[in-house]
Amino acid sequence: MAQQLRQKYLSQIPNMDHILSKPEMVQLGNRYPRGIILEAVRRGLDHLRQTIITARDPAKLDESIFSFEHLLPQFMEEIENQVNPRLRRVINATGVVIHTNLGRSLLHEDAIEHIAGVSRHYSNLEFNLVQGKRGSRYTHVEQILCRLTGAEAALVVNNNAAAVLLVLNTIAAGREVIVSRGQLVEIGGAFRIPDVMNRSGAILREVGTTNRTHLSDYEAAIGEGTALILKVHTSNFRIMGFTSEVELRELAELAHSHHLPVMEDLGSGCLIDLSKYGLDREPTAQEAIKEGADVVTFSGDKLMGGPQAGIIIGKGEYVERIKVNPLNRALRIDKLTLAGLESTLLLYLDETRAAREIPTLRMLTYSHDELRKRAQRLSRKIRARIPTGLRIGVRDDVSQVGGGAYPVQLLPTKVICLKPDHGSALQLERKLREGKPPIIARVSKEEVLLDVRTIGDDEGDLIVDGIEKSLRQGP
Ligand SMILES: *Cc1c(COP(=O)(O)O)cnc(C)c1O
Repeated sequence: MAQQLRQKYLSQIPNMDHILSKPEMVQLGNRYPRGIILEAVRRGLDHLRQTIITARDPAKLDESIFSFEHLLPQFMEEIENQVNPRLRRVINATGVVIHTNLGRSLLHEDAIEHIAGVSRHYSNLEFNLVQGKRGSRYTHVEQILCRLTGAEAALVVNNNAAAVLLVLNTIAAGREVIVSRGQLVEIGGAFRIPDVMNRSGAILREVGTTNRTHLSDYEAAIGEGTALILKVHTSNFRIMGFTSEVELRELAELAHSHHLPVMEDLGSGCLIDLSKYGLDREPTAQEAIKEGADVVTFSGDKLMGGPQAGIIIGKGEYVERIKVNPLNRALRIDKLTLAGLESTLLLYLDETRAAREIPTLRMLTYSHDELRKRAQRLSRKIRARIPTGLRIGVRDDVSQVGGGAYPVQLLPTKVICLKPDHGSALQLERKLREGKPPIIARVSKEEVLLDVRTIGDDEGDLIVDGIEKSLRQGP
């Protein structure tokens, strides 16, 4: 019986030509390419077919599902899905400041404007305006990087993973690189030091143990085949307890006494000492240079708060060799990134301004008072617009730095907690995530938590809209 009804319904699905002849569809044809419309209708009808096939009791299906009026909004949504960008802005209410999955660092307005200007017009990207001939794209940021870090020379590439690969390939292909076993890290996204080393053509020479490595371990490993001593900043984990690491300064002394270079992969690469702003101490790029590193690499979009980039600073003799490595051409930075990076670096000429204005640093250094005020403002706004159906509170919690930086530091913060009267917190979290724009929140103990640290000053109304719409949809 059910099977017969199912067959009957399946035969009632309107055909493609019938749908396409409707005036609404003809009108859509003036706005969207035919292929897009055909695909949207095909998907809408497939969806209807699936509904009929999978319905447990076809007798319970509402016959209106066959009507054009019911199908049209689905076709429209399928069209929207195809013509609108998939990469969309979201609201980060997770409290993770450098959230790799949500795009890491937000750029300062200066950087955004510079990117727009350079993309709208021709530029002197690789043109020397004084000599009137070909120039180098790297000159634009080299001087400011040297000035900020005290390095002799600098080069920027696509990201820090590329920077590490390029340096190892240039300095150590076919020869040995000495690394402590405690620093053979894996960064998210399958970046593993031993694998990158392998791909660079360098040979990994592990020394010491997971928790303790001594200067004598490095010294004993130096031989004919040694090209480099590498220190990797263990940015995304900490080894606690009975541990020992060799200071960069000592490694540099050892390496130099054997006429070898020493490199530090700093990972996050901070340009200012954040302990002045209430965070733990992280080594800065200028300290690494001062302590004798010949080459230092770090990311542009972690603690530095710029666009995705890999920054290489160090002694002129090495940086010049790295620049002319043919692999550099494959890893090169594009002009938009270069523009964003240059503007971000210029902000660091005034350290207090950088800490206050670069979004990543501003979010990391909010005072307790600022966070409290932000939470009060937002919770009041939500209560005013949504008086019933939801319990709204504010409480203390902790945010994370993210981006493989400060793995153990928890930043005290304020969160808005939402508990819907109907339905679960998980359902509300999903609806917020599927909203426009998506709001990414956390769930803890049957409550949705919105961390005010990473919510933008101008995102309050969008959040209230999102919550309101989610509740209106019901559980
Ligand atoms: C993050 C990180 C990398 C990779 O940097 P990307 O800019 O993400 O490519 C490499 N090494 C360390 C130590 C890191 O923390």
